[in-house]
Amino acid sequence: MPLHPVLTPCPLPRSLTVPAMSSSASKKVLIVEDEPDILQLVKLYVEKEGFRTVSAATGIEGLRQVKQEKPDLVILDLMLPEIDGIEVCKRLRSTPETALLPIIMLTAKAEESDTVVGLELGADDYVTKPFSPKTLVARIKALFRRLERTPDDKQANYRYGDLVMDLARHEVSYKKIEVPLTAKEFGLLEHLLRNPGRVLTRDVLLNTVWGYDYYGTTRTVDVHIRRLKQKLPSLNEAIISVKSLGYKLKERES
Ligand code: CA
Repeated sequence: MPLHPVLTPCPLPRSLTVPAMSSSASKKVLIVEDEPDILQLVKLYVEKEGFRTVSAATGIEGLRQVKQEKPDLVILDLMLPEIDGIEVCKRLRSTPETALLPIIMLTAKAEESDTVVGLELGADDYVTKPFSPKTLVARIKALFRRLERTPDDKQANYRYGDLVMDLARHEVSYKKIEVPLTAKEFGLLEHLLRNPGRVLTRDVLLNTVWGYDYYGTTRTVDVHIRRLKQKLPSLNEAIISVKSLGYKLKERES
């Protein structure tokens, strides 16, 4: 029997070994950051919350890791060697498999105008350096929560102000008056309502609504968006065209 208490193997209390949040246990976060100190800090705090992490030090490596590791969320530094965070974001958004991958950008204060570009290109959120790790973790959790709120198919309705989409009846109404939509217009609107606040590229919309074997051009998407706006004028301001990329439905509070 060991005499010295230090020699006795002592299991850690469960609370220290089990991740703080069970729902975060299976989520994998990719950190793309070229500054080793910041990478280590982010990694430490993200793992402390029970998330698994993988990391990359360049944009190209980040893209490779996304393919290989299939993370649930990416923390993406803006200034990176080879290709920067904006380019990484752009490439992820224009690939159907990663078009909806949650992205949080890390930016320095001086890069705030780039941040706006990043958000336009489809980053979901951004955190300005120097940041407190707590803030970053809070943003990650908030983003996951927001994504989990997406109504599932069993829920029959999407609401957007006075606009209601009844999935079960395949009907759209505005202020309780039915607005007839074609099947493609309906599909397009459904995809936008399902992903408020996210940039959806023309390619992604084309593939989702028309299917991979469709031979039309991305202009088809523009034409249908225009028709949707004509039929539902309340969407005129709400559907934002994102330069050279696609469309985004503004997020609403309710
Ligand atoms: Ca950097």
